Amino acid sequence: MSRDAVLLHVVGMQPNIFPETKFVHRLTQSLRSVGGAPMLALGLALAVGSLGAAEAAARSGALIPPPAQPAVVQLIDAPAQAQADTPVAAEPAWQGRDLDGDGAPDFANPTGGPPRSHDAYGDGFFHASRDGGARPHEGVDYDDQPGQTVVAPISGYVSKIGYAYPGDSKLRYVEIENPALRLTARALYVDPSVQVGESVQVGHPIGAALSLQRRYPGITNHVHLEIAEDGQRIDAQTMILARGPDGGVMTGMN
Ligand SMILES: [Zn+2]
Repeated sequence: MSRDAVLLHVVGMQPNIFPETKFVHRLTQSLRSVGGAPMLALGLALAVGSLGAAEAAARSGALIPPPAQPAVVQLIDAPAQAQADTPVAAEPAWQGRDLDGDGAPDFANPTGGPPRSHDAYGDGFFHASRDGGARPHEGVDYDDQPGQTVVAPISGYVSKIGYAYPGDSKLRYVEIENPALRLTARALYVDPSVQVGESVQVGHPIGAALSLQRRYPGITNHVHLEIAEDGQRIDAQTMILARGPDGGVMTGMN
């Protein structure tokens, strides 16, 4: 098989979820031995992406032969690095919905962290109980590390920078308005690096995450994100979707 044919063969296959990692190991080993070079990230990703179809091919006896020239390895000139034996990343990536259909996401996870799970102060999902059920949680909390970069959840202009709590001059929020999409997003517990009136791009930095430990000792540090569409608060998790390692959208996260 020519190099191009092998590439097409590998790249063109439909991604499919397969829990069996044995085949990936085998493919990895064969590429390693052929290249004499390290198995690198892209090669691994291709191998994982095509696992389902490759598995089927293996069962039918048509196992992809190691290319005479190690095509995948040739494509990459990253430095040699040993890869772990677990090729599937555990951390989800995040995919913002494309509201206006221009092919680009209109939302971004402000911290890259998962929605806050249960701790002594409650849960981080939309409409979780607050104050013993007296009020619903109006946002979604995204775990963070204090000091890390916080990015704009939507594109727009900075319409307000304010204080999350009266009398607390440390914990601030950044509000972004996008009149074209009729969206407003407010990210709380952010030390802003932007100013009111400034335009920001979704996914670009707006500040640094602030620790909540002084106000809520023991709480999971997070950015509280409120999104409103036409003035109505909506669940950010319906706009910022978790993606599994295979690229498919995961459900059931909260
Ligand atoms: Zn919150």
